[in-house]
Amino acid sequence: MMESLECGFCLSKIVNRKSYRKVNSEEFSCALKTIGLEQSTINIVCTNCFNRLYKLKIFDNDVKDKIVKLIHGKEALVQTLRDMPGVKRSSSITPTQSGLHLK
Ligand SMILES: [Zn+2]
Repeated sequence: MMESLECGFCLSKIVNRKSYRKVNSEEFSCALKTIGLEQSTINIVCTNCFNRLYKLKIFDNDVKDKIVKLIHGKEALVQTLRDMPGVKRSSSITPTQSGLHLK
């Protein structure tokens, strides 16, 4: 017999061992912080809430990957344009000026 457990997010009853997941690990600390919780605040969640939290975790990773790809794409584009003969002849830009301007 399982002790009475409830989802740390939606407070629904956990009915069996397959209907919950533990989220108090380092793996989810970033996603939990994003919604304003400390890693140790919530121990177990139902599978529905786990799927939502997992999506949030993956979302953060996807955003990072996309930003890295965009930055590399920009660097390649800047280099292509700088290598064009007309640009080389008339440019006074130094190579250090290719950084992001996110203001
Ligand atoms: Zn839940």
